[in-house]
Amino acid sequence: MNTAFRVARPASYYSDTNGVFATPYEMPKVTCDQCGRTWLDTGDWYPNFGLDKDADLDMFSLEENVSVEAFQELKRHVVGRGVGRAALLPGCGLGPVTATVPANPTDFVWCCFSLLAKPRVVDILKRAGVRISFGPAVVQIGKRQSVEDFVALQVEPVRLYSDQTLAETTTSFCTKCGNVLLKNVRAEPKGPLQYVRNRIPNRQGLVRVYESVVVTLASAAFIEAVRRHRLTGIEFEEAGVYV
Ligand SMILES: [Zn+2]
Repeated sequence: MNTAFRVARPASYYSDTNGVFATPYEMPKVTCDQCGRTWLDTGDWYPNFGLDKDADLDMFSLEENVSVEAFQELKRHVVGRGVGRAALLPGCGLGPVTATVPANPTDFVWCCFSLLAKPRVVDILKRAGVRISFGPAVVQIGKRQSVEDFVALQVEPVRLYSDQTLAETTTSFCTKCGNVLLKNVRAEPKGPLQYVRNRIPNRQGLVRVYESVVVTLASAAFIEAVRRHRLTGIEFEEAGVYV
């Protein structure tokens, strides 16, 4: 079974789970003197990460715009377990997530492209042998504020397109800042998008496709656990194939 599935929000959920959310800090925008772009990628958050005591907190904001060199320097002030392996792209959120979720929330709640989940979801996934990273979320449910009802899932972006898919979609990466560059935005792949499976860490439940901010792939074990336990608020759509 080589079909790749992405997570999707159920069509009926658009109106009531498009939650208001924030993290205390974000990595700033970056302006690169090699590719000439100013960019950010707001698809990721790292609820477990924080800043060291020497960090200039004002710089950790989407309002700020820095050079690649200054960006690398700011990254040194981000602390937390696994920070050395994290992509920490421009615009990613840092620190506990605060969000407003609807009354009677589903097991998964969408915040733009990121996900909150009930703690039982994490327990179910762990029991199924699925690796999933998560951190704290402070949620407002109706009039009640809670730190126990939800966690924020931390999903790492990974470059997954095969050489063939990169060529067919005219996608490349800036060698200085890592920005995704498209030579022809209308270029269509000849067949399904191809993702290189062995770049996904073993047993990882969710991985964000670096080349597309809107696509998070779910592993077969993740999908199986969600279906078996009838977890709500999430669906799966075909998104290409693994190679
Ligand atoms: Zn660049």
